[in-house]
Amino acid sequence: MTIGSVENHRGREGGAMVYPVYSRRSKGLSVGINLFPDRKICTFDCPYCEVFPFQTDISFSVDTMAETLRDVLAEAHSRSEVVRDICFSGNGEPTVSPHFPEALEAAARIRSELVPQAALVLITNATGLLKDETFEFLRRAAVGPEALKIWLKLDAGTEDWYAQMDRSAVPYDRLIAAIKALSRTAPFTLQTMICAINGAPPPPVEAAAWERLALELAAAGHIASFQIYGKARPSPGDPAASSLPAPILEERAASLRTALSAAGLRSPDGKPIPVEVFL
Ligand code: SF4
Repeated sequence: MTIGSVENHRGREGGAMVYPVYSRRSKGLSVGINLFPDRKICTFDCPYCEVFPFQTDISFSVDTMAETLRDVLAEAHSRSEVVRDICFSGNGEPTVSPHFPEALEAAARIRSELVPQAALVLITNATGLLKDETFEFLRRAAVGPEALKIWLKLDAGTEDWYAQMDRSAVPYDRLIAAIKALSRTAPFTLQTMICAINGAPPPPVEAAAWERLALELAAAGHIASFQIYGKARPSPGDPAASSLPAPILEERAASLRTALSAAGLRSPDGKPIPVEVFL
């Protein structure tokens, strides 16, 4: 693999286990780790999901992933590229993979050796938190100076919008309970996709419920930041999900900033909690 192909992440649908991309949320070069080179495996079925149907006969291997990661990082270094993060994301929900813990440990070792300035990030839909073993693994991984940064998806403040946005068999109330439990014990960034479903934006009752939930989670003192993002790329489910005008996302972010400030809520480092918008 070369970093010449970093304009998009289509390579991961060709079976790539390591795929460098320029990421708007990472604000630079992000090296993705894909635990599902053979097919998409996820506990959600988001209509905005960017993973197009594919199948390969490539099996995930920690050794192959580690070797490729070293190669990609060496190439980035040779081009004087700054690697912002190594990010577990890919064709599905990383915590579903039985290889996830071992792959994370291998990536953490390589990160420390070759790119100690880079963050180690997990993008998760949070459903893994319902398993005690995964919850405990993530809780431990998320603390300490070399900590894993968890970017956790929370698309909805109501069960109805959750059903439309994430189309999951995982019960909403159990998922929210697990996210609240993590918010009391480990730092994470909360990510929310805001888009229209079948042409309709989230209704006001949903927006209000999401903000109440965001405040409740922030009140536990561990939210590092909020990321609100819009639909920016094609998805196989198009046109079920569609992007919304920027002012709608900016308005949600501004409202949350005001509410966080009024409540005096801070991030774990004692600063105002950033609320960023990615269009
Ligand atoms: S959680 Fe991520 S990978 Fe899974 S369906 Fe949603 S967008 Fe796709």
